[in-house]
Amino acid sequence: MALNPSTLEPQVLRQNFHEILPALTSREAVIEATRCLFCYDAPCTHACPTHIDIPRFIKKISTQNNLGAAKTILESNFLGSTCARVCPVEELCEGACVLGSDHKPIEIGRLQRYATDHVMDKKIDVFKAGKPTAKKVAVIGAGPAGLSCAAELAKLGHTVTIFEKKPLAGGLSTYGIVVFREPVEVSLAEVEMVKRLGVTIKNNVTVGTDISFDELNSSYEAVFLGTGLGNVPNLEIPGENLEGVVDGIEFITQTKTDDLSSIKVGQKVAVIGAGNTAIDAATIARRLGAHVTMIYRRTKTEMTAYDFEYDFAKLEGIEYRFLTAPVSIKGSIFVEGLECQTMQLGAPDASGRPRPEPIPNSNFTLECDMVIKAIGQEKQTNLASQLGLTLEKGYIVVNHQNQTSNPRVYAGGDCVRLKGDASTVMAVQDGKIAAKSIHSSLEGGN
Ligand SMILES: Cc1cc2nc3c(=O)[nH]c(=O)nc-3n(C[C@H](O)[C@H](O)[C@H](O)COP(=O)(O)OP(=O)(O)OC[C@H]3O[C@@H](n4cnc5c(N)ncnc54)[C@H](O)[C@@H]3O)c2cc1C
Ligand code: SF4
Repeated sequence: MALNPSTLEPQVLRQNFHEILPALTSREAVIEATRCLFCYDAPCTHACPTHIDIPRFIKKISTQNNLGAAKTILESNFLGSTCARVCPVEELCEGACVLGSDHKPIEIGRLQRYATDHVMDKKIDVFKAGKPTAKKVAVIGAGPAGLSCAAELAKLGHTVTIFEKKPLAGGLSTYGIVVFREPVEVSLAEVEMVKRLGVTIKNNVTVGTDISFDELNSSYEAVFLGTGLGNVPNLEIPGENLEGVVDGIEFITQTKTDDLSSIKVGQKVAVIGAGNTAIDAATIARRLGAHVTMIYRRTKTEMTAYDFEYDFAKLEGIEYRFLTAPVSIKGSIFVEGLECQTMQLGAPDASGRPRPEPIPNSNFTLECDMVIKAIGQEKQTNLASQLGLTLEKGYIVVNHQNQTSNPRVYAGGDCVRLKGDASTVMAVQDGKIAAKSIHSSLEGGN
């Protein structure tokens, strides 16, 4: 069967794609802030990868100094508004809250959103560009890593130009993270805040194709690479070219850039994968009205998605089929089903996780008319290879200052995240560290 746009009423669609958590009112924010114990050497601040002084900003909210609270947040994390919405807070700041053991942890993410919304909504600029240094830096990629690096450099007075291949800046915050977690407007408002610091963003420019790296190298004193990762890789199984097989990130992107009622969705959707992209794509398909089954070849324990994401998807009514691997996609023009195989776990593989092994004669066909591929993202090695940078497993190797094997080139974000979870807040911190390193090298001449 051909795919059709969602049959849900436009107003139901709009409701389904609203931000999940409502903003706190002033009263709610002050009440929540006064629950904080304002710990000395606070564990939440240590647990935040950008080390925001959390007790300090919460104290300011409790005295209704919202501008001061926003300043405290943004001086450690220029993309504090995005992070307030997308950070896995249960694993980070809120997970470390001492109230968590006996009481409910402080809602740090929502308080952070309350304070940053205050300045974003009113377009209040908390920082100004620094005294001009006449030093020029090129940033490749306008995702969280590139924007954070650019903002910190501009605050220090350097002239920064970002080259971004897409029509809009913001990286996956604009194009990838589901709207009911982060609306596009939030990401674009942050981009504007970076621009107001004097940063130039050149959109629709792919470095390596539209402009050579040598050109950048000769015109800029330092370069930062924040190029992220690529598309979802192919499944490498028969039937992948049938109509109704879609890339998970492209599917999510449509809900951020297109009219919701024009998005095509199947009635029965199989989502292959078990990470961020898989959960988000599955939730979208469900909210567009489909029956959704997630297929994963290992078990819940090995899923890369966080527990709260798993629980969220379950509550949405998404079904999981663990220990199940796709074998082929059935159909002549359109998807008509997904042939699967039942797996069992064997000895650990190179990733340290138990290797899934097929159980002989266990094949079965799952009825579906749409298959969403969501098995991670490809590494983008083209540009880094052209530059002769040292890579490990497709990721750019950097030192603790986010400097690559070429001393004038720095990198951060998903493109360097060989170990640990790829997340927005980690990308922001990388950009910040690289900006400080670039600054000291430009000032000291090292
Ligand atoms: C579906 C999905 C959901 C996610 N959900 C969450 C979440 O809830 N919470 C969370 O913390 N993290 C989440 N993540 C991860 C998070 O989005 C990333 O870790 C973060 O965006 C990484 O930032 P980055 O700047 O390194 O890369 P990106 O955001 O990918 O930005 C890279 C930018 O570089 C540009 N670019 C690439 N090559 C070139 C070139 N040659 N020339 C010019 N421009 C180029 C790209 O167009 C892009 O704009 C999610 C990821 C996905 C895919
Ligand atoms: S940036 Fe993220 S981890 Fe850090 S305090 Fe804010 S919500 Fe928590």
